[in-house]
Amino acid sequence: MRIVSLVGNRPQFVKAAPLCIALRAQGEEVLVHSGQHYDPELADLFFDELGIPTPDHALEVGPGTPVQQVATIMERFEQVLRDESPDAVLVYGDTTTSLAGALTAAQCAIPLAHVEAGLRSFDRSMPEERNRVVTDHLSDVLLVPTEQAIENLAAEGITRGVHLVGDVMFDASRIFAPLAEGRAAAATHGLTPGEYLLVTIHRAAATDTPEALDATVEVLSSLGVPAIFPVHPRTRAKLEAGGRWDALQDVPGLILAPPIGYVDFMSLLMTSRAVVTDSGGVQKEAYFHGVPCVTVRDTTEWVETVAGGFNVLTGMDAAAVQAALAHLSMPAERPPYYGDGHAADAIARALIAELD
Ligand code: UDP
Repeated sequence: MRIVSLVGNRPQFVKAAPLCIALRAQGEEVLVHSGQHYDPELADLFFDELGIPTPDHALEVGPGTPVQQVATIMERFEQVLRDESPDAVLVYGDTTTSLAGALTAAQCAIPLAHVEAGLRSFDRSMPEERNRVVTDHLSDVLLVPTEQAIENLAAEGITRGVHLVGDVMFDASRIFAPLAEGRAAAATHGLTPGEYLLVTIHRAAATDTPEALDATVEVLSSLGVPAIFPVHPRTRAKLEAGGRWDALQDVPGLILAPPIGYVDFMSLLMTSRAVVTDSGGVQKEAYFHGVPCVTVRDTTEWVETVAGGFNVLTGMDAAAVQAALAHLSMPAERPPYYGDGHAADAIARALIAELD
């Protein structure tokens, strides 16, 4: 089995860490980095810290509109596929990189495998939703993390090649948690375990219009307890361009930090009182570590966490966030929504079953 895997941004690096090991134990993997995330703090740091192999090909797409990025990745990725002649292409999640990889595999008539297949927020205004729908419909092997994802695919007529494997982010959390436990990252930032919030905000819906930026700044300004916000570069750029960055420096208790490496971020998450986020991955990581989550979106793909009482959807609404923070709860039992933390091995087995 010879797989070409395509990664390009921070959450995909986290997912690739366990999967590179499992794929290489069972066959050959050629790792390709699209270059969608190129800041050292979103990319290089993760390869070093998570022990991800050096990419065999760097497509170096760099900045641009999603259309420009898809076009450039496709052109360069096609050449890689012609040179490498893999048995399958593997893409992760719901990004511009995933979409470009899926379209290229389809055009080259190479089987496509999709990790995190079948997730739906049912909000087509999100680029992530459009990317994941198209990728699923082009995929031959659909590696789904949850029971709900199987139902979502069946509702769209996709039932062949579907494998319930669990969530590979759970593998990463399981593997790196012992390292994170030794870090005490809260103290490094002058924070007391159990008494602070961990905040991440990076989606277009939170930053890309003046109204959205207003709502985001209002939420950040009214958290009311110590909070650490590792600011994604695109969020920072939007806050600066909107003239809101300087005012945020003066919000009492709010620590604005650069993006943080995975292990320190995990340490901060594990000892936080709660997480306030619009991230997909961080919602799950809060669940893995038994930390209450407040999701500042109207929808989520990780519906189990909401139904189970582990996660509250507030939208980007300061009053709703306040209300959710005032009534944080963490049910005692956490059902195994995301498998057993060995999704990478299950993915390798599913690929062998489908391809050999
Ligand atoms: N993350 C990190 N440092 C940070 C913020 C996030 O290591 O400062 C990790 C986080 O633990 C998770 C991943 O990045 O594994 C989530 O990425 P992001 O929120 O950018 O993407 P999404 O999951 O929303 O697609």
